Amino acid sequence: MRRIGIMGGTFDPVHLGHTGIAEAAARELALDEVRIMPAFVQPFKQDREVSPAQYRLAMLKLAAMESRANLTVDTWEIERGCVSYTYDTLYHLTKAEPDVQFYFILGSDSLLTIETWYRAKQLLRLTGFAVGSRPTNDLVQVEQKAEAIRRQYGAEIILIRELMLPVSSTMIRDLVRSGQPISGLVSPLVENYIYEQRLYSEGSL
Ligand code: ATP
Ligand code: MG
Repeated sequence: MRRIGIMGGTFDPVHLGHTGIAEAAARELALDEVRIMPAFVQPFKQDREVSPAQYRLAMLKLAAMESRANLTVDTWEIERGCVSYTYDTLYHLTKAEPDVQFYFILGSDSLLTIETWYRAKQLLRLTGFAVGSRPTNDLVQVEQKAEAIRRQYGAEIILIRELMLPVSSTMIRDLVRSGQPISGLVSPLVENYIYEQRLYSEGSL
């Protein structure tokens, strides 16, 4: 059976924390491929300004190209053009490719709130989940949440051992806006793209 990781998110912009968790999951879970799935509209970010999908997608393609792991970008949620519920995406994937073992890859901040997601109970039974601990979250709290979700929903939750980078898209947008460097936080081609397209600077998005 092929083992494929799916990583959802807004990726505004993609940074080395995102590619780092995808690469760590691929290594620790022996995944054949990780598909990054940018949301058209993230359900909990509907009232926020988010860069148009074309920019987020272009940066993801550059980041995937620069990664040594087998990362691909899946445009299914963007092509659908509606609010992107992870349940719908994983339901679609598991039906369309029944002989693949899917793992949804997410950061610990997302695990802590996953029970509030659309159709959480059903969602947690669709695929396995691989969780990377972000430095902003307390490790003990994450382990307790993982165990509680395993027990309550029969979910398969795997904690990635490797530590995640202390970086977020919010941090990158704030740094660019205030004219500070972002090298070492995003890949070189993504960094160039942000400056070329004048993303996140004063007067732009
Ligand atoms: P924002 O600050 O805009 O919320 P973000 O950096 O959290 O951006 P998202 O697009 O919201 O990025 O996250 C997509 C997925 O990537 C989520 O599951 C999130 O937990 C995970 N993620 C984001 N940053 C990291 C990181 N540094 N390490 C591990 N996982 C991360
Ligand atoms: Mg986030």
